[in-house]
Amino acid sequence: MLLGAHVSISGGLDKAPIRGTELGCTAVQIFTKNQRQWLAKPLTQEEIDQYFLSLQKSSIASVIAHSSYLINLCSPDKNQLQKSRESFIFELERAEKLGIQSYVFHPGSHKGNGERYGIALIAESLNYVLDKCPGFKIKVLLETTAGQGTSLGYRFEQLKQIIDLVEENVRLGVCLDTCHIYAAGYDIRTVDSYEAVINEFDHIIGLPELRAIHLNDSKKPLGSRLDRHEQIGRGELGIEPFRLIMNDARFQNIPKILEIPGGEESYRHDLELLKNLVEAG
Ligand code: MN
Ligand code: MN
Ligand code: ZN
Repeated sequence: MLLGAHVSISGGLDKAPIRGTELGCTAVQIFTKNQRQWLAKPLTQEEIDQYFLSLQKSSIASVIAHSSYLINLCSPDKNQLQKSRESFIFELERAEKLGIQSYVFHPGSHKGNGERYGIALIAESLNYVLDKCPGFKIKVLLETTAGQGTSLGYRFEQLKQIIDLVEENVRLGVCLDTCHIYAAGYDIRTVDSYEAVINEFDHIIGLPELRAIHLNDSKKPLGSRLDRHEQIGRGELGIEPFRLIMNDARFQNIPKILEIPGGEESYRHDLELLKNLVEAG
């Protein structure tokens, strides 16, 4: 089972596998650099070597990178758009050097220019960045969003439209965030509604494209379009959807990552809770 949390890289990238191991993770998500800055000092060979050594000694079998929140691949501001694309390439190169399996990003915010505009520009940006990173093994994952403000990716159809507009879309995949889809209006609180939403995902995007799951409860109600994470079982979602995901054979080999408030203590608590939801057999 690939289960874990978003862990800090403070003190160096090599600290992330150590933190994950201490929490009892088999998977972690990291930022590849300070996520409040566009760029960083290039990775040194020593940093890369230390990271791999640390990973080898750890309990971590799967590492995911998450993009900086500064990046907006459909920014209407030309300067911000170009910075976003360059930062995206920079982070993707770092992640590739670290042997990371996938790079998760939020599709983008159209800032009032409309969804069609945003979707087309995100796809154009992806074509641009993928072209600059030929031969990379890493998968680029579009995350489902809550649809807060003018952010795109709150409908499975929007992700599908972006994917269809990208030339090398075999290099893409999707990361499903339970808090985000719920806030976006996808109810997964009962067996029936859960099955209906997973079937809808399969029908529109295709389950083979699902390569990561973010496990977060939601502070805000169904369809609120507000992105506020909560600890598992303490929000609007409750325990049931997490029990369903943890026991869903289709998701057995997909990394499941917590992004909850409360730091180490809440990670420890919720990882234990999630492990206990797994039914024998
Ligand atoms: Mn995210
Ligand atoms: Mn997420
Ligand atoms: Zn979120």
